[in-house]
Amino acid sequence: MKIVCLGGGPAGLYFGLLMKLQNPANEVTVIERNRPYDTFGWGVVFSDATMQNLAEADPVSAETIVDAFSHWDDIDIHYKGRTLRSGGHGFIGIGRKHMLNILQARCEEVGVKLVFETYVEDDQKVAIDYDADLVIASDGLNSVVRKRYADTFKPDIDTRRCRFVWLGTTKVFDAFTFAFVETEHGWFQAHAYRFEDGMSTFIVETLDETWQAAGLETMSQEEGIAYCEKLFAPWLDGHKLISNATHLRGSAIWIRFPRVICNGWVQWNELDTPRGQRKVPVVLMGDAAHTAHFSIGSGTKLALEDAIELARCLKDTSSLQAGLKHYEDVRSVEVLKIQNAARNSTEWFESVARYANLEPEQFAYSLLTRSQRISHENLRMRDAAWLEGYEKWVAGRTGVEVSHGKRPPMPMLTPFKARGVTLANRIVMSPMAMYSCVDGAPGDFHLVHLGSRAMGGAGLVMVEMTCVSPDARITPGCPGMWNDAQGAAFKRIVDFVHGNSNARIGIQLGHAGRKGSTRLAWDGIDQPLPADNWPLVAASAVPYIEGVSQVPRAATRADMDRIRGDFVAAAKRVAAAGFDWLPSASPPRASTGSNCTAPTATCCRPSSRR
Ligand SMILES: Cc1cc2nc3c(=O)[nH]c(=O)nc-3n(C[C@H](O)[C@H](O)[C@H](O)COP(=O)(O)OP(=O)(O)OC[C@H]3O[C@@H](n4cnc5c(N)ncnc54)[C@H](O)[C@@H]3O)c2cc1C
Repeated sequence: MKIVCLGGGPAGLYFGLLMKLQNPANEVTVIERNRPYDTFGWGVVFSDATMQNLAEADPVSAETIVDAFSHWDDIDIHYKGRTLRSGGHGFIGIGRKHMLNILQARCEEVGVKLVFETYVEDDQKVAIDYDADLVIASDGLNSVVRKRYADTFKPDIDTRRCRFVWLGTTKVFDAFTFAFVETEHGWFQAHAYRFEDGMSTFIVETLDETWQAAGLETMSQEEGIAYCEKLFAPWLDGHKLISNATHLRGSAIWIRFPRVICNGWVQWNELDTPRGQRKVPVVLMGDAAHTAHFSIGSGTKLALEDAIELARCLKDTSSLQAGLKHYEDVRSVEVLKIQNAARNSTEWFESVARYANLEPEQFAYSLLTRSQRISHENLRMRDAAWLEGYEKWVAGRTGVEVSHGKRPPMPMLTPFKARGVTLANRIVMSPMAMYSCVDGAPGDFHLVHLGSRAMGGAGLVMVEMTCVSPDARITPGCPGMWNDAQGAAFKRIVDFVHGNSNARIGIQLGHAGRKGSTRLAWDGIDQPLPADNWPLVAASAVPYIEGVSQVPRAATRADMDRIRGDFVAAAKRVAAAGFDWLPSASPPRASTGSNCTAPTATCCRPSSRR
C-alpha cells in the first residue's frame, strides 16, 4: 500500500511508523512543512496509561520515549497565598521537539520517507504525485484538508472564552503546578510542568475580556511576556518566560482554544492517478479531526491513539473502505469521551471567578475533580492522606467531631446549615412532578414517594411544584395549596417525615402561567386537555406552543394582586403544615458550614426542633 501523511506531527509520524512496521512492503511518506528540528510548543504530558498503549504498538520507540521522560506524581495548587499539594497523579512529560525527533529517527530507521520543508496546498495533487492508496490528513489544528472538505467532515468549531499562551521557562517545577493570580481585571492562571532537565512548560490562561482589559491585546510579544513574568514572579524565581513562536507578531501568540469535532472523518476522491482512475480516501487524524483542551493534556495521546487504531483497523480488515469506516466509528466515540472531560475542565478554568470565594481546600478539591473523570474515591486511590485531610477539614467546618483514629465522614454526609435549618447531610431528593394528586391533594402515593426517601436517609426531600390556585396548575394531577384540605393532606406527610426520619421536608410553590391546563405527562405532555380546560393567565398573551397551546390572557394589575395574594395564602398553609423549607425568589442569604450552593430558600422552622 502507498500511504502519504500530510503533516509530520505525532499523528502523521506515528501512523507512518506503525504502517511500515506492520508491512515493510508499504511505501510510506510523511510530508512536513517545517524543518526536522523546528516545532512549536514546549513539553507535553501523558498519563502512565498512554505509555502502555505506545509500548504495545511499538516497544522500541516507547522505550526511547520513556527514557526521555520526566516523571512526577504531585500537583501543586497555589491559591490565595497557600500551596496545596496532592500526590499520586502519575504524569510523564517530554519535550514536544524531543518526542518528534525520536519518532522521526524511528521512522527513518524502519524506512518511512520523511519529506521536510514542503508545504502541502493540494492533497489531491499529492495523492496523484505519490500514486497513493491512502492519504492521511495529519495537518493539525488548522488543517487545510478539513477546510477543503468541510461539506463531508462537517467540522463543529467552538472557540472558547479564554486566551492562552504556550511558553517555556528554565525554572524547573517539581510538581505539576497551577498558580492563580487575581488582578484588577480578573483572574490569570498558569499551568506549569517540567518536561526535561532544566526546562518547564508554562501556559498562561485568562478570560478573553480580562486579557483585553489588561491591555495584552495591544502589547508586543515581548511586552506580553514581561507582563506574565511580573504576574507570576513569585513562582518563577527570577527565571524568564520564553516564546518559541517567533514567527508570530504582537499578541498573536495568545490563542482562544478551538474545540473541534468532525461529523465525518473520511473523504473519497475520484482521481486520475498513474495507476488509472481510482477512488482515493483522505482521512482525518489527530488535531485535524478533533481537539481536547490542553488542561487535560490529551491532544497528543488522542493523536497517537488515532494512529494506533487506524493501523489496527487496516490490519484486521478485508477492505480499505471497511477499515476506514471502523476507524471512524471507534475513534469518534473514544474522542467524545475525552472531549466531554475536556469540556468540563475548559469550563472550570473559564469560571475561576465563580470558585474564587471558596477556601483553598475546597478550591483545590474542585480543581482536582473538575473534569469529572477523577471522583472522590479515585482521589483516595491517588492520595489517601490528602483526601482524608480534606475530609477532616470539611468535617471541622461543619461541626462534626472526628475522634482520634477514626475516618472522617464523606463530605456528602456532613450536615448542611442554611439560615435556621440544619440538614443531616447533603443528599437532596429533587422535586419531580408526579401528576398523582386528586383535586390538588396529595394522598398515599405522595406519602410513600416522599416518606420512603426520607426514611432512606436523604437530608432533604422536596415536594414538587405545588400550585397556589386552581388556574395555576399545569395538569389536573398537580398538587395545590389553595385550600385547607390540601394543607391537611400535606401535614399528614410532613408529620410522617418528621416522625420517622431525620430528613427535612421542603416544598416549591408555583404558578403554571401559559403552560397550564395540559394533560398528565403520560397522556401527552404539554398538550391541552381534551375537555374542561380552564382559562389561563400569564405575563403576556403568548401561547406556550404556537398553534397548540391555549392563548393565555395577559395578566392585569388586578390579576397580579390576586396571584400575589394566592402565594401569600399558600405560604401560610406551608408554614402551618410544618414544612422546613420553602424556596423563594429573594436573593440568597443562606450560607454557613461550607460551600452553600443551595437554592434561595426560606426556612420555615427553627433548627432547634430536633
Ligand atoms: C498549549 C498547548 C499545550 C498542550 N499540551 C499538551 C499536553 O500536555 N499533552 C498532550 O498530549 N497534548 C498537548 N497539547 C496538544 C498537542 O500538541 C496536539 O494535540 C498534538 O500535537 C496533535 O498532534 P497532530 O499530529 O494531530 O498535530 P500537530 O502536532 O499539530 O502536527 C501537525 C503537523 O502538520 C504540519 N502541517 C500543517 N499543515 C501543513 C501543510 N499544509 N503542509 C505540510 N505540513 C503541514 C505542522 O507543521 C505540524 O508539524 C497541547 C496543545 C497546546 C496548544
